Amino acid sequence: MIARILCLCLAFAPFVHAASPSLVIIDAGHGGKDSGGTGHGLVEKSLTLDTARRLQNKLTQAGVRNVMLRTSDVFIDLDDRVAMANRFAQRDAVLVSIHFNAVSSGGPHGTETFFWRPDATALAARIQRNVARATGFTDIAINRRRLRLTRNPNLPAVLVEGAFMTNARDARKLAAPATREAIAEGITRGILEVRRHGETGIRRVPEIRSPLSRPSDPPDGGKRMRINY
Ligand SMILES: [Zn+2]
Repeated sequence: MIARILCLCLAFAPFVHAASPSLVIIDAGHGGKDSGGTGHGLVEKSLTLDTARRLQNKLTQAGVRNVMLRTSDVFIDLDDRVAMANRFAQRDAVLVSIHFNAVSSGGPHGTETFFWRPDATALAARIQRNVARATGFTDIAINRRRLRLTRNPNLPAVLVEGAFMTNARDARKLAAPATREAIAEGITRGILEVRRHGETGIRRVPEIRSPLSRPSDPPDGGKRMRINY
């Protein structure tokens, strides 16, 4: 579950091109007083932390350096997460934020990945494809969307919505540890693909000059743009 955000200010952050990430910053969404979404007995903040830990193990096993923004059930403001990630911006790092969707209807299901920066296109596409493949969840799309965690970091950033907790079938699968393991495996494979193949075969989206995303933005902003890949 992510905030919908828009802002008309005119601050631009420089784009840093990082085709082959040497460090992965893992962000387990929500935490502490912020439980995130819920559905069918699942609580988002717990699922994200569990999946993030699995991702950390897999990346470490694959020899990919990584750091987690939270390792326990604590609240960290989105802007603080961005500031923490930015400390690694000059080190060829990428940010992977893990979330799970919750909506008012039980219909929507599947995996989708959000990004904003052109230099995150390949990362989003390769992670999305591999998570859908590894889990069997429906491959919804990669969406370009100006969110605090996709627009504001000074490094390539993606936000993975692993599945819908509010869909009975997705939720039943998500409740199984093997499925969270498969999500972590898919994200790891996507990152390894970027290291091996970079942007080959994937068209980078054009740059859009845009203001930073802010918590005070009206809720109807941050429209999603579905990207073919
Ligand atoms: Zn969320």
